[in-house]
Amino acid sequence: MTLVMKFGGTSVGSADAMRETADLILQARDTWGDVVVVASAMGSKPVKVTDLLLQGAYTAFAGDLDTYPQLAAQMRAIHYEAIDGLLSPEGERQIILAEMERFVERFTTLCGAVSVLGELTPRALDAISGMGEQMSVRILAAYLRELGYDSEAIDATELVLTDGNFQNAAPQTAATRAQTTARLQPLLDSDAIPIVTGFIGATSDGVTTTLGRGGSDYSAAILGQALDADEVWIWTDVDGVMSADPRIVPGAVSIPTLSFREVSELAYYGAKVIHAKTMRPCVESGIPLRIKNTFNPTHPGTVIEEDAGLSRQNGALKAVTAIKGVSMITVEGKGMIGVPGIAARTFGAVARLDVSVLLITQASSEQSICFIVPEAAAAAVVGSLEAEFADQLNRHDIERIWSRDAIAIVTIVGAGIQTTYGIAGRVFGALGDHQVNVIAIAQGSTECGISVVVAGEDVDRAVEHVHELIVGGGKVS
Ligand code: ADP
Ligand code: ASP
Ligand code: MG
Repeated sequence: MTLVMKFGGTSVGSADAMRETADLILQARDTWGDVVVVASAMGSKPVKVTDLLLQGAYTAFAGDLDTYPQLAAQMRAIHYEAIDGLLSPEGERQIILAEMERFVERFTTLCGAVSVLGELTPRALDAISGMGEQMSVRILAAYLRELGYDSEAIDATELVLTDGNFQNAAPQTAATRAQTTARLQPLLDSDAIPIVTGFIGATSDGVTTTLGRGGSDYSAAILGQALDADEVWIWTDVDGVMSADPRIVPGAVSIPTLSFREVSELAYYGAKVIHAKTMRPCVESGIPLRIKNTFNPTHPGTVIEEDAGLSRQNGALKAVTAIKGVSMITVEGKGMIGVPGIAARTFGAVARLDVSVLLITQASSEQSICFIVPEAAAAAVVGSLEAEFADQLNRHDIERIWSRDAIAIVTIVGAGIQTTYGIAGRVFGALGDHQVNVIAIAQGSTECGISVVVAGEDVDRAVEHVHELIVGGGKVS
């Protein structure tokens, strides 16, 4: 039996956390036989190594020559402290310290190059931001060796072949399967424990790419699919997927089971606990996914199961999530009525900017199309639409293209909530009772989510009161 286990930033965030993680790896190995480990960059809150790496790149780009050397020192200290706590001087301590130094130097050199060139390409960002995982896996594998187990740190650049879409690269399934089995199977056959970097991959030319922020979860699913794993487990710092972000809603509770669709909807609409793309390889290959807490391992966490279970649970509100810092773009005009192609041209103009649209609504009279994009992209989107529709604006067929900033999307997830009588009414009732004005509504096609757009200042209140419906028994019979 093969189990792929991914450990997030906090699970490898200190010597103590790595010790806990190593225990979990060894226990799993006793039960499952073959265990492949995927690890994130070290991330004891609030300092995440990936954030430090990115901050170094951006400050160097801005011409600031003081910050990245300080960040290099901070990164060195974080990794050295873990090594000091885990590896003995008689063992590999010096070797691994030297390896860390190599990465810290590389970071400094790359940041220096960025500042000299005054250029920061997505490719350079990936080379820099992917180093955190390369550092953490080397420490964890060395610690397992120190405990007497055969273990090897492996850069996923050897395994996960991706396209060249830096910062958000897409894996190529067949080549990844071939490379992964060729490299990992012999290790598993000889009872070694592979510790693989999350987050990164490489193009066919061997250039490092990343799968997007939070992408180590996705790495685990990609490797699980490539190895035909029996299960994929995501170890993090909370008791599985919860009914709301526990940092925002203290009363959030752990959800024992969710369907792939429900969790995809939650992740897509902002629940950071799992990367939104993680579910796809698991669904495609029928691999069960589990989310568990490294710091409370006896808690069962959340099991994510096939969508078939949805019908059994009609009407249960399960979780609420929010995305802040988004803008609503509106294209409005009486001359749009019944004119074919306006929507296609609108989204074509957005796509050309490589901006992803988070939610769309259209008034039934077709007098307006509204959609949500990240706030940082709003001005560019409006500019691109004004250029696209210059003629229509001149003729006043389109009267206005504008962006409303500082808004948020609140999404409520649960199987069958769109089709269960009374649910939407209760959600809107709760929002109305607490003076939350709903700016727009969208229901996805999956029948397991309703999204509402609210003003940024209302979002925490909206989440809190919708959450009361969940914990207060959101089930409508
Ligand atoms: P990791 O480094 O383990 O991947 P992340 O920080 O990426 O950890 O994700 C875990 C965090 O996600 C939790 O600590 C929690 O604050 C946040 N979170 C947001 N929404 C949810 C939710 N619905 N359920 C659980 N955790 C959530
Ligand atoms: N270290 C990467 C990030 O912070 C990937 C991950 O943690 O999943 O985005
Ligand atoms: Mg994460």
